[in-house]
Amino acid sequence: MIPYNEALNIVTNAISSIQLKTQIISLLDSIGFALAEDIYTDINFPPFSNSAMDGIAVKYNPEVKKWKINGSIAAGKFTDISISENEAVKIMTGGKLPSDVDTVIPIEDLITEENFCQLCDSAIVKKGQFIRFIGEDIKANKCVLQKGTQITSKEIAVLASCGKSEVPVYAPLKVGVLTTGDELVDISEKLDNDKIRATNLYTLLSLIYEMKMVPVNFGIVKDNKKALYDKLQEALNSDIDILITTGGVSVGEYDFLKEVMSESGTVTKFWKANIKPGKPITFGIYDKMDRSKYLFGLPGNPVSAFVNFNVFIKPAVNNLYGMEPFDVIKAELVNDVFKSDGKMHFLRGHYSFNGSKNSYMVETAVSQSSGNIMVLNNTNCLVVIDEEKRNVAKGDWVKCIKI
Ligand code: AMP
Ligand code: MG
Repeated sequence: MIPYNEALNIVTNAISSIQLKTQIISLLDSIGFALAEDIYTDINFPPFSNSAMDGIAVKYNPEVKKWKINGSIAAGKFTDISISENEAVKIMTGGKLPSDVDTVIPIEDLITEENFCQLCDSAIVKKGQFIRFIGEDIKANKCVLQKGTQITSKEIAVLASCGKSEVPVYAPLKVGVLTTGDELVDISEKLDNDKIRATNLYTLLSLIYEMKMVPVNFGIVKDNKKALYDKLQEALNSDIDILITTGGVSVGEYDFLKEVMSESGTVTKFWKANIKPGKPITFGIYDKMDRSKYLFGLPGNPVSAFVNFNVFIKPAVNNLYGMEPFDVIKAELVNDVFKSDGKMHFLRGHYSFNGSKNSYMVETAVSQSSGNIMVLNNTNCLVVIDEEKRNVAKGDWVKCIKI
């Protein structure tokens, strides 16, 4: 049995050798993807010096407190009005500054009477105030976003400012899911006797979808060596990058997956990780001339498969795209945790923000059974308890992986 960190390293290194392709997509479709090129500004930001307030634009002179209004400039309605030190131009927020003004006085600091404006007694004017100078945010031809950056609404703001209606992103990986078991029926079918719904298929497809990868559904296959072999061949000959199977990786009489994996030419890199839940995970690489495929054999237990995805596949793929592998917080345990083995545990828990302490607290779920999908639904993190730790007490600080 391999320690978790060692297993994760194997998976991360293997996945990092996937050659990412680039594709050009429209700006709004790019949310969630990783940029495939550095992005440079095409213009200065702001592109011209403009007013940060509604008010008047003047030539600064500390002696002058009253100005004759000599025209008006609204945003997008520029005319280069010339003024003396005793004159001012009305200017609106975003209006481009005429060439011979250097200071803006906001309307709130002025008393206006017909064609004149007078400074309020309490107002203080500093030379250069309330002007957004050309290029003060960033100059033209500077790198504003680096290759690998994940695109969120903040990046969209930058990309839109740079006039990028289309964006180069790394193409998403294609990930197949194949679920195995004689007991499984699709969720659209009638359940009878000893059959169960193939929940995992949908859980995994949705996890893939949530990560902006392309899910490919290979459906349900019976616990039959020939059927499993044929289905595996079909998946391995398709254009997927990663295949996730569930079920059949333990030591039961019908657990054929590992055997069939090696018959198909897949080289097993490890089987069984020192973790709970999800211990039976197996990972292998299928090398084809053009490109390799990465196989994850996850156990059938829905919680195990869910946890395995979150602690192996997600961090390895995030790393490939240059993103943080995990979304982690530290939280204070509100209950004791008893751990009787030397495995790394990923306990389902619920964290929340404790306003009085200005920090996070976390409560672990009462049932940690790897079959209880409804318990999982009421949690929002995996509380990590290291191999060497035994019991962890209320008040201890623990690492929580957000799920
Ligand atoms: P296995 O890993 O095949 O030994 O399965 C472990 C447990 O998970 C068994 O109770 C299975 O019935 C259940 N199971 C297997 N596959 C699925 C699935 N796709 N969805 C939900 N439960 C499953
Ligand atoms: Mg099974």
